[in-house]
Amino acid sequence: MSSALVWFRRDLRLADNPALQAALDAGHDVIPVYIHAPSEEGEWAPGAASNAWLHRSLAALDSDLRARGSHLVMRQGGSLAMLQSLLAETGAAAVFWNRRYEPAIQSRDTLLKRTLRGQGIQADSCNGSLLFEPWQLATQQGQPYKVFTPFWRNALTRWKVQPARDAPPGLSAPRVEGARLDTLGLAPKVRWDAGFWQHWQPGEAGAREALEVFIDGALAGYRQQRDLMDRVGTSLLSPHLHFGEIAPWRIVHALEAGRSAAADADIDAYLRELGWREFAHHLLHHFPATAGENLNPRFDRFAWATPSAASLQAWQRGRTGVPIVDAGLRELWHTGYMHNRVRMIVASYLCKHMRVHWREGARWFWDTLVDADLANNTMGWQWVAGTGADAAPYFRVFNPVTQSEKFDPQARYISRWVPELEALPLKARFAPWQHPHLLAEHAPDYPRVPLVDLAAGRDAALAAYRRTGAG
Ligand code: FAD
Repeated sequence: MSSALVWFRRDLRLADNPALQAALDAGHDVIPVYIHAPSEEGEWAPGAASNAWLHRSLAALDSDLRARGSHLVMRQGGSLAMLQSLLAETGAAAVFWNRRYEPAIQSRDTLLKRTLRGQGIQADSCNGSLLFEPWQLATQQGQPYKVFTPFWRNALTRWKVQPARDAPPGLSAPRVEGARLDTLGLAPKVRWDAGFWQHWQPGEAGAREALEVFIDGALAGYRQQRDLMDRVGTSLLSPHLHFGEIAPWRIVHALEAGRSAAADADIDAYLRELGWREFAHHLLHHFPATAGENLNPRFDRFAWATPSAASLQAWQRGRTGVPIVDAGLRELWHTGYMHNRVRMIVASYLCKHMRVHWREGARWFWDTLVDADLANNTMGWQWVAGTGADAAPYFRVFNPVTQSEKFDPQARYISRWVPELEALPLKARFAPWQHPHLLAEHAPDYPRVPLVDLAAGRDAALAAYRRTGAG
């Protein structure tokens, strides 16, 4: 029987895996392969939190393969060279993989596919992570979209979701061994990630469980509650989606199976969020420079401030003196995750009140988020900074105090992550600098005043914005 390499990348699952399925449908014995080649990711090699997740996700995939009689063959080195050596070692005549869309990876894969095919190897790629690949949707003029609503409207008119496919029940055993997972250096040496795993279970089973928990719980009321940070009001599927531990179309099928008049609004709101993920991939594909450069070139003239190392660190570590901002950044540090609305608030404080370039924030998120995703992160930061597609206008500056009063009305989220403020009366927990005596008495170690005064920071940001001529 012929054999084929199935090259796992950001599709770390066995169900709904089009590349794996294509290899099996073609009648091959499958050799599951993972290649650790971070230098090929260019300047966006996975950060520390992503690596910690990846370590566990690969362990889960290997264990799922072993339960089916196979195992994951791990290698470290250049992708093309590793694939070629595995092809030679195993006599396999084909390689299958699911596509990725980051610019550096797309260029690498194009070259790699051409080279393998030139050597007479069958090299086939599939769509394993999106409902619509970035080139499938275009405006009536054939241009990429820069505004979400028409993008999503078009997506809904062309809605055709792949069927869900169960994992194969058994696989043949590859007659080749690989590197041990520990030798890839993904798991942190100092166990700073210990707190993460109280919140997360990387791997396909963890993804399925998160989906079930969401459908049984937060889905009802999602549309209204997704902005409230004092509860689990969202699916927490983002790292699972990023690593491909679950296919978006499986989520769609699971939600649609429970459609009813009562559930309509929540399901549609959730699908729309998946739509933002699709839009982010569309943008990054069509505007590949935007991971580092403004999508809107008018902002190239913007006078960003150069932060001192101390003020940047105060933001990173949640010591700005603005409770909701500090709560978000501490949540991120402890769990590798931050609630979406809080991401917007901390990003706005950095880019507007502190006037620090959005790239600094994107870099920090890149290293600390377990769901760090080049498409979503780039779009999120450029959206908040006002420099991106369909972005919040620069002059709309989030007020972190009113945001927290609205979306964390009992200050539960603040108290959880900034526990030194818990002894303050509720009103004082949103803006403690307005209650200096209480602050001195109950939270003497918390900053007395915000790193950047809210009104002054806002005025300075708007003045800088006007000077770009963009206002
Ligand atoms: P849910 O509300 O349950 O949403 C379901 C899924 O839809 C998410 O898992 C995610 O895949 C997708 N989604 C939801 N909101 C967005 C959005 N605004 N943009 C793109 N996709 C979305 N998301 C990432 O996955 N990785 C990132 O690196 C990332 N960086 C961000 C940076 C900033 C500054 C901002 C404002 C947002 C960022 N987001 C990022 C988007 C969003 O915050 C997360 O996807 C969301 O909080 C994940 O939680 P959830 O899975 O419970 O979301």
